Amino acid sequence: MNSIEEFKAANPEKEYYTKLVEELAKLNEELGAFNNINFSINGGYPLSVKDNICVKDFETTASSKILRGYVPPFSATAVERLLNSGFGFLGKTNMDEFGFGSFGINSERLARNPFDKTRVPGGSSSGAAIAASVLKYHVALAESTGGSIAAPASFCGVVGLTPTYGRVSRYGLIDYASSLDKIGLISRSASEIRYAFDLIKGKDSYDATCVDAKEPENKRINKLFIIDSFVERVEEKVNSSFFKTLDKLSGMGYKIEHIEIADIDDTLPVYYIIAMAEASTNLAKYMGFKYGSKVEDFSKEYNEFFTEARELFGKEAKRRIVLGTYVRSASVRNKYYYKALQLRGLFSQRFAEYLKDGFIILPTMPILPPKIAEVSELSPLQTYMIDILTVPANLLGLPHISFPTDYAEGLPVGTQLIGAPYTEHTLIDFVEEWEKGFAYKFKYNLGSV
Ligand code: GLN
Repeated sequence: MNSIEEFKAANPEKEYYTKLVEELAKLNEELGAFNNINFSINGGYPLSVKDNICVKDFETTASSKILRGYVPPFSATAVERLLNSGFGFLGKTNMDEFGFGSFGINSERLARNPFDKTRVPGGSSSGAAIAASVLKYHVALAESTGGSIAAPASFCGVVGLTPTYGRVSRYGLIDYASSLDKIGLISRSASEIRYAFDLIKGKDSYDATCVDAKEPENKRINKLFIIDSFVERVEEKVNSSFFKTLDKLSGMGYKIEHIEIADIDDTLPVYYIIAMAEASTNLAKYMGFKYGSKVEDFSKEYNEFFTEARELFGKEAKRRIVLGTYVRSASVRNKYYYKALQLRGLFSQRFAEYLKDGFIILPTMPILPPKIAEVSELSPLQTYMIDILTVPANLLGLPHISFPTDYAEGLPVGTQLIGAPYTEHTLIDFVEEWEKGFAYKFKYNLGSV
């Protein structure tokens, strides 16, 4: 019996939820997983929603001061579909402001790794992954632009599915970079992810990029490709753990093949150029008029008025507005932005060559979850480099799943599997098979029935 069936069979009463939110609120003071807990939840399978996804009548801020006080008059399509199908809304999860970050430290409230509170939980969907790691029965709705589902899922020892671009409606998502954003899921098991994914996927008249896709025919994957130049570079402990995982997979009958993809390192700058260019336009709407914080004094001079309103953006958001505006400015856009778009097309072809025959497998993150104090010292460029392994699949809109495969020094190690477009179910099947021979570890087990 999977956990959703188990939960339904136990059919918990109102007291269950009262106790759950009380315990959660207490733990939240230490871990910073939730920006807001819904204390009036009284039924349904617990669902948390990343704070950049709208929930009707519930403050939604994308962890930004500039959106404080914004209460959406509607719910995102994905939220609506889940709440109409037996899920109960548990609260809004913490994140890096607007999705800008990889560690969960670019937020007003610091998020911490449940395995070791002095370490980062990963980001930007930091709270979603922490919630999945500490709650026995729960599904998190999250979002990824360049790795924000896979990275925290890996650091918190849970499963994270990033669907193909356009497979899940983005309606009601506070956009970061519209051609890259995907709504996906984080949870403790592949079966919960399958259940929720089947409810949220598919066409939505509110999002023109969202399609009803047919799954490709060949079901079981046999061939797994490893990009050697990527794997060689990861931290020694992650590297040896990854090869241990590959040995197990060979034992399960998978055929492993080593490959190289030309110029693969360029996916990182290509991603950051596109992401920042789009982010800088998407953030233009926050100027003290319509959403969230308002500047009341209209007597101010133009520059002064907007400076005051936009002062509320965090440091990373400001950096991205400046860089994003620059790369798409008339004098350099051929050199940066258009070039990046061209290269994205080229990489799509290079990946497709392999993905027609099998799946790409890689460590999710190149390092174990680092200490909060350590990452606070990194330069922006060093921080962006940590995304090297999660960026390619995200840049190309390819579905991928990160799942726990080992523990090193008491910390989880995650592996990611990347597939051709619309192969989500095959990815989920793969993880389900893996789970049969793998013992997950969790530090907390809130909400047992
Ligand atoms: N770390 C990446 C960035 O900052 C990815 C974030 C995301 O997927 N939202 O752009």
